[in-house]
Amino acid sequence: MSADNRQNTAALLLFSGGQDSTACLAWALERYARVETVGFDYGQRHNIELSCRQRVREEISERFPQWRARLGADHMIEMPALGKISDTALTRDVAIEMQQNGLPNTFVPGRNLLFFTYAAALAYRRGLMALIGGMCETDFSGYPDCREETLQTLAKAIRLGTEKDLVIETPLMHLTKAQTWALVHELGGDALTALIVEHTHSCYLGERGKRHEWGYGCGDCPACALRARGYREWRCETAAAQTR
Ligand code: ZN
Repeated sequence: MSADNRQNTAALLLFSGGQDSTACLAWALERYARVETVGFDYGQRHNIELSCRQRVREEISERFPQWRARLGADHMIEMPALGKISDTALTRDVAIEMQQNGLPNTFVPGRNLLFFTYAAALAYRRGLMALIGGMCETDFSGYPDCREETLQTLAKAIRLGTEKDLVIETPLMHLTKAQTWALVHELGGDALTALIVEHTHSCYLGERGKRHEWGYGCGDCPACALRARGYREWRCETAAAQTR
């Protein structure tokens, strides 16, 4: 979507309360006239993410007056059926490990297809023309439903199935995690970086006991490993740029 079109459009963000969707929230608030948020509860182990959502929205409202007026309603969609039909390490208490097909056992088959389809139905009713998600092809765990081709093909099916010009936007699709931290800093400076470190949650195990420089988490699961590595890379690049 072009910059001019975005200024007059309302969007719906898939918002989990994690690092990536919070970066996308800032990205969207900077561009769209109004941004509503939607979360999905499917019995995920890292349910703590869902309790971080409200806090992140409140902090954004409080610290960024330029975005406050654009932040619209929040929606929650209960999807217990997804937890029941997908027997994965995200919804069951088993160790996170790689499977023979090369995907980690945290993969919930087709999760993003379902999320965007539900989001499209909600957006249709609310008159929102853009669906935004923090999916990413770079640095990702190999989830095929995070790929750009998957999501843009789905967007086409949604347009055909609703006869609405709905678009799917994925601003992080081609960014590394270090580049996502850089984007966060570009959008909201130290205040937004600190907000993400302090209040967002990405750890698959739902650990919030230990505070690292990059935020809270177990420090070992794939989500923590990615977040920690991205943060360190971004800090190193920033430090190198300053000494140049
Ligand atoms: Zn973790």
